[in-house]
Amino acid sequence: MRSETIAIHGGYDVDPTTKAVAVPIYQTVAYAFDNADHGAALFNLEVEGFRYSRISNPTTAVLERRVAALEGGLEALCVSSGQAAVHYAVLNLTEMGSNIVSVPMLYGTTHTLFAYVLPNQGVSVRLAESYRPEYIEKLIDEKTRGVFCESIGNPAGNICDVEALARVAHKHGIPLIVDNTVATPILLRPIEYGADIVVHSLTKFMGGHGSTLGGAIVDSGKFPWKEHAQRFPMFSRPDPSYHGLVYTDHFKDAAYIGRCRSVYLRATGSVLSPLSAFLLLQGIETIALRVERHVENGRAVAEFLRKDRRIEWVNYAGFLQSPYYELAQKYLGGRGCPLMTFGVKGGFQAGTRFYDALKLIKRLVNIGDAKSLACHPASTTHRQMSAEEKRQAGVTPEMIRLSVGIEHVADIIGDLDQALDAAVTRSEKQPSTNRADQECCVGLS
Ligand code: PLP
Repeated sequence: MRSETIAIHGGYDVDPTTKAVAVPIYQTVAYAFDNADHGAALFNLEVEGFRYSRISNPTTAVLERRVAALEGGLEALCVSSGQAAVHYAVLNLTEMGSNIVSVPMLYGTTHTLFAYVLPNQGVSVRLAESYRPEYIEKLIDEKTRGVFCESIGNPAGNICDVEALARVAHKHGIPLIVDNTVATPILLRPIEYGADIVVHSLTKFMGGHGSTLGGAIVDSGKFPWKEHAQRFPMFSRPDPSYHGLVYTDHFKDAAYIGRCRSVYLRATGSVLSPLSAFLLLQGIETIALRVERHVENGRAVAEFLRKDRRIEWVNYAGFLQSPYYELAQKYLGGRGCPLMTFGVKGGFQAGTRFYDALKLIKRLVNIGDAKSLACHPASTTHRQMSAEEKRQAGVTPEMIRLSVGIEHVADIIGDLDQALDAAVTRSEKQPSTNRADQECCVGLS
């Protein structure tokens, strides 16, 4: 099946007991055992079935199968948020004293997790100076357990060379973890380029309506954990916390996701509710159509901003002058990203006036809603970072991040236009002298 079809039918035909065509919401905590032997067999993972909704649930299981299929992965695990997904994805392959290497252009809270939370749990994260593979490779040592990137960085809008990063990771016997939240599997399927694990905030474009938090971890099933048992003993040694289970023996190619569910979801419980799984499934049904419109509107808005004299610079990977143009050709099939950043002429003050004057476009910290959304990262999502960390993450003081929605594009542009008028004084509207250099990007390395 193609992505458009998987988004609607993946992981579900009709309900086996009632023949319901819509995925039922199994709003239950527990599932009855036929008898003591049945309960024991379920706990021993000898028979398929459900025991307790912190571990698995039939509604959530449909979402897991659908997200795995969309990404071309073997299996998926859904959790309560994108942050939980990123956290579990890293915890599942690290131990005290080990490290992962990450690109620096990250969503703000992922940066907080990496720079402050994980180190307190005994796992250090080495943030490279640049998202380029050669900078990542320099930081890998014998304690490294994975490479992490966002396929499209939020908010920097950079596009990572997933294939080259996977090559570097595999050369050192470690997996590549890709946060594919911004790209979605409609624009890019990282597993096709060698990624081993894909994580998602389903809260964004996947759910698509700004109503429901959720996260997913997708296992490609391709990383040879057994071959690299010295680095990753947790998958192939008996686990005393699960009466001696050996994950590579029991779950075979799905050892990574099997362990993530059996250890982290079971013991720390960042569980997705069945109602949330249902709402996310509803959203995913239309993802292909929505992303197509997001992309189309995004290009029109980027073109409007580029031509407008009240705008200082625009960072949009779809422009020929963008440093990410080539990567957008390769990984996004030449499509631009509906997430873009720009600076209003007149700097921070004018940027704030513009932001305050928006009427249709919502001021908030979210992306990927059907609605157009604007954010000022320096004062919100990336506020806790030092000036140097902000620079590395591609965040400048005046930067506005726009997540272009699927409203009529003339209404989106109309709102930008009136807010720019309110923000920029006549003298600031004069054409810039070196406009050609400024129109595409914020000079990220
Ligand atoms: N990853 C990326 C790229 C994000 O943009 C976000 C949130 O904006 C997250 C992860 C975290 O997702 P959630 O808000 O669902 O925890």
